[in-house]
Amino acid sequence: MNKLKEVLTIPENRLDRKYFLLLILVAFIFSMVVRYIWVSDFSGVEQFKWNNELMINTNDGYYWAEGARDILAGHHQENDLSPILTPAAELTALLAKIIPVSFETLILWLPGILGSLLVLPIMLIARLLRQDLLGFFAAMLGAIAWSYYNRTMIGYYDTDMLIIVLPTLTVWAVMYALKRDSSIAMLLAPTFAIASMYWHAGTTNVIIGTFLITFFYMIIFERKNLYYYKFLAVFVLVLTTLPIWIKPLLIVALISLFLLAKERLTDKIVMGITIVSFIIYIIFGGFEWIVGILHNAYLTRGLVAAELDMTSLKFFGVVNTVREAGHIPFETFANRISGSVFGFWLSTFGYILLLVRYRIMLLTLPMVALGFFALQGGLRFTVFAVPFMALGGMSLIFIMAKYIGLFFNEKSKKYAQYAVIILFAGMIIYPNIKHVQLYKVPTVFMKDEVKVLAKLGEMASREDYVVSWWDYGYPIRYYADVKTLVDGGKHAGISNFPVAFELTSNQVAAANMARLDVEFTEKSFKEPCGASIECMLKAYKAKNPNDFLNALNDKNLQRPAKTRDIYFFLPNRMMNIYPTVNMFSNIDLLSGKQGARPFFFMSQNFKDENNKIILSNAVSLDKKTAEVTIGKQKVKLNYYVHTYYDKNGVYKADIQKVQTNQPGVSAIFMEAHGQFLIVDERVMNSLYFRLFVLEQYDKDLFEKVISSPYAKVYKLKI
Ligand code: MN
Repeated sequence: MNKLKEVLTIPENRLDRKYFLLLILVAFIFSMVVRYIWVSDFSGVEQFKWNNELMINTNDGYYWAEGARDILAGHHQENDLSPILTPAAELTALLAKIIPVSFETLILWLPGILGSLLVLPIMLIARLLRQDLLGFFAAMLGAIAWSYYNRTMIGYYDTDMLIIVLPTLTVWAVMYALKRDSSIAMLLAPTFAIASMYWHAGTTNVIIGTFLITFFYMIIFERKNLYYYKFLAVFVLVLTTLPIWIKPLLIVALISLFLLAKERLTDKIVMGITIVSFIIYIIFGGFEWIVGILHNAYLTRGLVAAELDMTSLKFFGVVNTVREAGHIPFETFANRISGSVFGFWLSTFGYILLLVRYRIMLLTLPMVALGFFALQGGLRFTVFAVPFMALGGMSLIFIMAKYIGLFFNEKSKKYAQYAVIILFAGMIIYPNIKHVQLYKVPTVFMKDEVKVLAKLGEMASREDYVVSWWDYGYPIRYYADVKTLVDGGKHAGISNFPVAFELTSNQVAAANMARLDVEFTEKSFKEPCGASIECMLKAYKAKNPNDFLNALNDKNLQRPAKTRDIYFFLPNRMMNIYPTVNMFSNIDLLSGKQGARPFFFMSQNFKDENNKIILSNAVSLDKKTAEVTIGKQKVKLNYYVHTYYDKNGVYKADIQKVQTNQPGVSAIFMEAHGQFLIVDERVMNSLYFRLFVLEQYDKDLFEKVISSPYAKVYKLKI
């Protein structure tokens, strides 16, 4: 073993503190320069800008932005779902007060800057191994590695910006504390661990994993080392479920005790303190955690089945539409962690050697294991392995350089070694830069859509509701400061059902449902009655949900009193997902069976040839016979619609009746959008089509308040 360790030993490389700090800065700047590629690609695109700044590119970012905005404003509305108490919103609001840039600039750059801080723990961990230069190269790789970049790029304003930085700092701090053997060093690990768990509760398992591995590390290698007992006595307090202000008090008190009573603390007393600490953990949280693990392992299946049997209504789940990677191909997995398959193998092999050579690196295993869990649990986990796999890859390169140096004389040895390091480091870093160049993520919304929302914000009160699909919930709330029924966090089938119903039903049923949905949503905050649809069914004493839904076709339905205004935000971008939206309401609530799919076909790539409009290989429209060919089927055309903006910029929809005797389809050419649609009667009569596409709406029910090619807004009159 010692022989092997000698073989794997890389010559020490330790820099003065000031040069080390300089290298941290260089790695950080490198990470920012790579991230700047996205900014420079899009800084000329006017549609991606708002308030003279590029907009963010992640939907969830608007959630934190809403919270930060409200903290800064000092007010928000009851039950508006604004996340004012979340760390992400708090941190953003705090920084907005300190840093003299616009709010838009702040949230655009924050993820890039905080994400790039990953270079710090990577280089600090390497410094513990006395490998400063190795740490520098690993930091450059880790900070821009494929999956880590995707989730910390500029504009990707989400909790991801610290979700790896904080646990990695924790792992470093644990290693540092164990190496330094001083009570003061003990303070850092709990601090980062608490910060990490506060920032995102999801990192709790990483912290618990780090604690457990430290515990076993002690049991195996350091049973007689009193310092380890002290450290674990302190660190275990982090994991308790005690209030966040009690934990630091306990931790500081315990560390002070260790410092002050240094000599007087006999082995037995330290052991006693450690046991007391562990018991505190078992009482406050530990027991729950262990039960939780057992529960998950053995009981979940039975429980879920029982719950499903108890609920009588069945909804369509978002999981059915989101293609969650259950099983991901190996190449994708490797790319996400290291940028290339070559880089991945180099890193894996190097990481194993690192574990063999430096035992303390075992403490990084929980995070790496969680990253590898991605092969089972889905892509989002890969990031956890990134920092340590980067260290692994670079250490293998440094070991190779050491042996290649043997072929050169003393004078040229150094140059040869650096050449090898730079060549191979470049080879594994470069695919990640290539990925950044190709990863052209658009902003969430276009400027013209935001204009509509800003205008809507001016006319709507903060208590008013805006009905739209959940994908647009957070941006709507951020730009228009209103309430929404569904959003990126509230989109279970039971919440989506009424909204999908409002967007895809006929105007009367949609209008009734919108009023009921809003009033019962507000009511449920005051007297819990379940989701709004459940509240409605209870309030109307409906025996059968289908009868209730049919009753909504009555314009004179008895509705609860109107407490506020309701607006419909109908963007053109919803056209692509219309069939998906429809699935959520096109379901029998008793049996859970999907209804027959409406016919919907959209093409933005159609050709006008002689007498035919060819929409795709399978779908075409014969202008002479007024027939639509769909595969081998021929269907009669009912209506031909041409929508456009006239000379005065007024939206027009020319509707030409072709035949109405038989069931058929309608063709719609939306000139301003360059899109051609073939839809059936049901889709033609839906609220979205009547209001957005045809502007042929019931004036008793709706009032058009904003119209642009990108999005239209209607106000509900009932
Ligand atoms: Mn609000």
